Amino acid sequence: MAWLVFYGGVGEVGGNKVLLEDDDVRIFLDFGVSFSQMGKFYSAPFLLPKREEGLVELRLLPPLKGVYKFDESYVSVDAIIVSHVHMDHVGFLPMVKEEIPVFCGETAATIMDAFTDMKRWIIGREGRKGGFKTFRTGEKLRVGDVEIRPIHVDHSVPGSYGFVIHTSEGAVAYTGDFRIYGAKSELTEDFVRVVEEEGVDVLITEATNISSAYVSSEREVGEKLNYIVRNTDGLVIAYFASTDIDRLRTFYEVAKRNGRKLVVSVRQAYLLSKLECDPHLNVPSMSDEQIMVFKKRKRRYEKWEEEVLEKESAVEAGDVSKMQDKVILVASLYDFEELIDVKPMPGSCYIYSSSEPFNEEMEI
Ligand SMILES: [Zn+2]
Repeated sequence: MAWLVFYGGVGEVGGNKVLLEDDDVRIFLDFGVSFSQMGKFYSAPFLLPKREEGLVELRLLPPLKGVYKFDESYVSVDAIIVSHVHMDHVGFLPMVKEEIPVFCGETAATIMDAFTDMKRWIIGREGRKGGFKTFRTGEKLRVGDVEIRPIHVDHSVPGSYGFVIHTSEGAVAYTGDFRIYGAKSELTEDFVRVVEEEGVDVLITEATNISSAYVSSEREVGEKLNYIVRNTDGLVIAYFASTDIDRLRTFYEVAKRNGRKLVVSVRQAYLLSKLECDPHLNVPSMSDEQIMVFKKRKRRYEKWEEEVLEKESAVEAGDVSKMQDKVILVASLYDFEELIDVKPMPGSCYIYSSSEPFNEEMEI
């Protein structure tokens, strides 16, 4: 007998935690934080649970035995399959027992390891100590008698997948999050083709914008950004999710077209240094002179920050202040105190360019 139990992601944006049970096999599809539910009790990063068990008491985590690190019951889930690394799909992974294998794409594993290095997890900042089991598109994974086929999709973070899952009672397609107007829409088309070929019985799809939305293609976004930057005399300050590599590339191109350099955070530089090893991703290289690193004033730098600052030549607020019309400064709201020293000149502008408001609440 096969069952699907939705512990999140229904009637809300993200928070996906879908349990697939097939006889004695139990697999979770994603294990994300529901920001709408979390927001009722907490406000990351300033107000977070003191005891992680409290997340179960408040029903923010499903009331399950044998899943969480703080619960000593025997392991009761065989695997967690990750579609992509937005926090509303993976944010609760650090709560999960290390014995439960987590399957994800290679790029997703690289990004999540970087999250752990940078203490970027919202809950359970130590992250996951054991490695991830990685897959590439087209491979077939097996958990007990259940066969899972990951197929890439295009989304605002690299390493995003949908799945076709063959159970004893038929096939299930799980899309994860996807887009068809993004930089690599052909990836999503590949997924749709496989779903058609395999003929699934159940479709679990994301539907955030299913009824009405005007969506710009990445190229249109680039043209709009170019128009704004071309018509700005002063400093351009920009925000986008550090994992949105397509948007980073778009800003990089716009900066280049307008004779400006892109000044990125140490966090962004660290992530790029990890991702540039994968030739499939074609990420802008940190050795490119077009990219500079912004060094925030801090009493103490973390090990991963020192690693970046030793390698890259960094600029500080005072330096940016002197070359305002020559740079695009990437800054989140938490970097805004630096603007006191940057002193943006009249005619400067701020561009908020986030495609996913549910994944980047934790930017300190
Ligand atoms: Zn997403």
